[in-house]
Amino acid sequence: MDKPISPSQPPGTLVEAVRYFAEPDVCLTFMAGLRWPDGVVKCPTCGSDGVSFLSTRRIWKCRENHERRQFSIKVGTVFEDSPIPLEKWLPAMWMLVNCKNGISSYEIGRALGVTQRTAWFMNHRLRLVIQTGTFAKMSGEVEVDETYIGGKARIMHPWKRAAKIKGTGGMDKSAVMGLLERHGPDGHSRVRVKHVPNVRRKTLAPEVRQHVEPGASVYSDALKSYDGLSDTYTHRVIDHAETYVKGRVHTNGMENFWSLLKRAIKGTYVSVEPFHLFRYLDEQAYRFNKRRGTDLSRFVDAMRPVVGKRLTYRGLTGDAPALATT
Ligand SMILES: [Zn+2]
Repeated sequence: MDKPISPSQPPGTLVEAVRYFAEPDVCLTFMAGLRWPDGVVKCPTCGSDGVSFLSTRRIWKCRENHERRQFSIKVGTVFEDSPIPLEKWLPAMWMLVNCKNGISSYEIGRALGVTQRTAWFMNHRLRLVIQTGTFAKMSGEVEVDETYIGGKARIMHPWKRAAKIKGTGGMDKSAVMGLLERHGPDGHSRVRVKHVPNVRRKTLAPEVRQHVEPGASVYSDALKSYDGLSDTYTHRVIDHAETYVKGRVHTNGMENFWSLLKRAIKGTYVSVEPFHLFRYLDEQAYRFNKRRGTDLSRFVDAMRPVVGKRLTYRGLTGDAPALATT
């Protein structure tokens, strides 16, 4: 079988990653390894492994007789319809999953030599890839908590805020709920966070039921919205008006995550439009859940679901495309 050349030592740091993935052949080998771990390249159209590699053009050609016989490594991946080369996509993902406080499209643009608009688009597409959409349900001891993220106004430039907020200051906070499983699959806590329309019972209770195994111990604050969970769970309440910890009953893990999240949003992003908040939440949850790994392992894990996820510019911006400034 024809194979692209083999890369040398995998990178460990951002500087190494940018240098490493600057080579198109290295990117190709890396992606091919993720996509066909057994080393057998298969045609994305017919599934046949009767393919030849055309090294000068870095594409494969299927020997079967059908449409689209020639295919690049991008065909069938989230990068398929993008003219942006893998030499930009791969370091961008590295930055996204490894920069602790998140990374803005200005920074990605500068680092990779693309426009801010392009970087914004890349950033959002990569966030879709790392969305933690297929989590197994949480079990054991689970903390549930809610918070508000100061909306776009709070972290907006003062002049912009004055123009946008006319007598309704503070109205644009977004409600966010979070679940933290204290001992996740790798023995460490993991979180799942979600932008919710409000913190009423009919919003929060179904989220708990959707993401937590029946029989688990659920710890929450005294918010009335969590009443009624005790039919399915061992539900214990910590009343923050009285105390923050009662033995194992507390939500300190979730509180810790909220402070990391708020620091990240304040420190990095110029503004987070509520429409995009869920992607920022997923990104931060991803880094938290993978905090025990190395930069390389986080990156590789993030790249695994690349095949099969699609998101177009239209899908990102909704019906009224407005360019976010993050
Ligand atoms: Zn084929």
